[in-house]
Amino acid sequence: MSTSADSESLVDVVVVGGGPAGLTAATYLGRFLRSCLVLDAGDSRAKWIPESNNCPGFPNGVAGVELLRRMRAQAEEFGARFEAAEVAKIERDGDGFLLSDGARSWRARCVILATGLADKLPDAPWVADAVDCGALRLCSICDAYEASDSCIGVYGPSGDIGAHGLFLRAYSERVYLLPTDDGAGGDDMREAVDAGVRVLAPGGRLDFDGKRCSYTTGDGETVVFDSLYPFMGSHTSARIAAAAGATLSDEGEIIVDDDQMTGVPGLFAIGDVVSGLNQISVAVGQAAIATTRVHGMLPFVPRGGAVEL
Ligand SMILES: Cc1cc2nc3c(=O)[nH]c(=O)nc-3n(C[C@H](O)[C@H](O)[C@H](O)COP(=O)(O)OP(=O)(O)OC[C@H]3O[C@@H](n4cnc5c(N)ncnc54)[C@H](O)[C@@H]3O)c2cc1C
Repeated sequence: MSTSADSESLVDVVVVGGGPAGLTAATYLGRFLRSCLVLDAGDSRAKWIPESNNCPGFPNGVAGVELLRRMRAQAEEFGARFEAAEVAKIERDGDGFLLSDGARSWRARCVILATGLADKLPDAPWVADAVDCGALRLCSICDAYEASDSCIGVYGPSGDIGAHGLFLRAYSERVYLLPTDDGAGGDDMREAVDAGVRVLAPGGRLDFDGKRCSYTTGDGETVVFDSLYPFMGSHTSARIAAAAGATLSDEGEIIVDDDQMTGVPGLFAIGDVVSGLNQISVAVGQAAIATTRVHGMLPFVPRGGAVEL
């Protein structure tokens, strides 16, 4: 690949996002002897994890902040550079890309978008404290095991929470659905109810007493939960990829090929921003796949320069 950009400011790969996906990509790229710059807004979902117990290699669990610290140290060990930045635009620049945050710009031969997603959360000042102590949980696949046999609430739109309630019913006999609207809920909710999940009156009030969350209906019924899961959807930065020419699905997700490349050659997307299964191990695996393809697309550089035969 060649580019019109000044070669001194050109890096092989800019990774946008410094969560588990982006940090793994940076480690792989360093070990492929490729120059890599990570531009990161610094708000990884993993920072919210009080303790992860399904992360491979940590049988006694690991806090999200500690995991990120280790992953960043590993990427730096293999030469990755980091800049704090929120990328606003990615566009083609010759055969490469020009990235900008509105004030600064960077040039790269390839770009890996690893910008994750942001959960939509209840509008309450106590949300961060409740996540921190495990009263509010944001990922049932991650930590339903820890909620086993506790009193569990599932909060969100009636059409979405039934399936989550059914999933959690395998872990506890006391599971409640707390709909934010008075819709019928569909087959998933009926199946959950048949399995013994109870539905409380919609549109109630959520509270947090410093240890546990509760839900109070309009009729004054209050249920206190050991674990409350809000499922309210999420925001992503997929629009940045779309503006660069990538195709999005009807659901707004970035469409990628088997190697995580978007429809724009050289522009990749990995981790929560692209995955349906929002997990660290998925983000890590996608980073390995994408970077191996990126390495193959970049010019071959023989060690010590070309050999005279
Ligand atoms: C409470 C909680 C508990 C969880 N527990 C687990 C668990 O136990 N096990 C598990 O596997 N998963 C768990 N997860 C999910 C896990 O955190 C995510 O799957 C993982 O963080 C995804 O990694 P990522 O790198 O794709 O995205 P992120 O970790 O979200 O990182 C994205 C990064 O990109 C940055 N960014 C975003 N936009 C831009 C931009 N425009 N320019 C520059 N940077 C940008 C963000 O600031 C962030 O630093 C949990 C999540 C939560 C919220």
